[in-house]
Amino acid sequence: MEFVDRLLTCADCGDEFIFTAGEQLFFFDKQFKNDPKRCKPCKFKRASVATRPGAAPGTAVLSRTETRTQCSECGVETTVPFKPTQGRPVLCRQCFQRRQPQAAAAAVAVDLMAASDAAAPATVDQVTGRQL
Ligand SMILES: [Zn+2]
Ligand SMILES: [Zn+2]
Repeated sequence: MEFVDRLLTCADCGDEFIFTAGEQLFFFDKQFKNDPKRCKPCKFKRASVATRPGAAPGTAVLSRTETRTQCSECGVETTVPFKPTQGRPVLCRQCFQRRQPQAAAAAVAVDLMAASDAAAPATVDQVTGRQL
């Protein structure tokens, strides 16, 4: 069987490319029924896309995603910029500030007066001690 170079049109970029006699012999040898649909650069592009490591694309998005969770102190629904570890308490912004009186002493006092929340005795002592 004689093979001659043929001109085919790439299905991806529409460029014409040569289906060489040697390649046809190869295809015939492998009993491939169909002509190649794409030129070499396009075939290469598709192959490199297909073999790209799958984990990479999602990582950047995931790290920016806020996880919806419940504050373990007051139970309010809040979001955290990380994935909460099972069993570890997650605090909403208010409770977090309440736990750090030095950082937001004024906010703590207001919160305590408004909510009269005695859930954190250590913090109450600190605040009252400071006010006395
Ligand atoms: Zn092409
Ligand atoms: Zn809270």
